[in-house]
Amino acid sequence: MECFTHAGSSAVGVCQVCGKAVCHSCVVDAGVAIVCSEVCAKEAVDLHEMNQRGKKIYGIGVANPRIPSGVIAWLLFAAMFGGFGIYQSVVNREPEWFFLAFAGILIVIAIIAYRRAKETGLQC
Ligand SMILES: [Zn+2]
Ligand SMILES: [Zn+2]
Repeated sequence: MECFTHAGSSAVGVCQVCGKAVCHSCVVDAGVAIVCSEVCAKEAVDLHEMNQRGKKIYGIGVANPRIPSGVIAWLLFAAMFGGFGIYQSVVNREPEWFFLAFAGILIVIAIIAYRRAKETGLQC
């Protein structure tokens, strides 16, 4: 592969922004990527910044991703109905199956939501 600007010089890499081949004399190290010019260097830094923010928003590459908020909501509902079910069971001296079963279903939904969130890598 030849340099895009200098015919005859063999390319050492490809600009990460515009895709042009660059040789030793015109390659620019933008810090985050190898680019062909100062214009592309700025673009590369912006793109890198955008990627980093995107990763944070979606929790990509986070060592200890927090539990998705949707899952927390389901678990809260489950705790509410489960707690009420247990309370009613104690007060009435017989299991309040409706609320206990409902809490169980909510926990299953929470687990499904958690698995789906893990699969897609989304944190919401
Ligand atoms: Zn370029
Ligand atoms: Zn060149």
